[in-house]
Amino acid sequence: MIVVSSCLAGLPVRYNGTDCLDQKIRKLIEENKVIPVCPELLGGFSTPREPAEIVNGSGEDVLDGKAKVIAKSGEDVTELYIKGAYATLKKAKEVNATIIVLKENSPSCGSSMIYNGEFKGEKIAGYGVTTALLRRNGLQVISEEQFGENLS
Ligand code: SF4
Repeated sequence: MIVVSSCLAGLPVRYNGTDCLDQKIRKLIEENKVIPVCPELLGGFSTPREPAEIVNGSGEDVLDGKAKVIAKSGEDVTELYIKGAYATLKKAKEVNATIIVLKENSPSCGSSMIYNGEFKGEKIAGYGVTTALLRRNGLQVISEEQFGENLS
């Protein structure tokens, strides 16, 4: 089974209430080959919510207690991000995920790039909290961009 970010599957779960439907993934949904998950909703957030970024590190650093996830207003939301990551891991194991396709650049789902923590739209290399936890547990996580390459 393929697990995908809910927003890539067309669900309007992003912080601002939008989705980012990916056409390749839409085809797989029609064929019942994917299960959508949103780590942030699993962590306890609702939509819409404040945008948040990882400050002073990456998802790996958040798991190690060396960096935090901070909402734009300054609220520390690290715990909910970690909770969402563990809930996503549980789900991925339950459905025997063979591959997990997550939305690039997100502080939860990014798998090669994330925003730099300054809320200026600037990105750095690194991955989100959920991706870090899934990879630590031996699961294969790729972005929607890599997924497209795999299909072509
Ligand atoms: Fe999409 Fe992941 Fe953000 Fe949920 S946490 S809206 S699935 S990028």
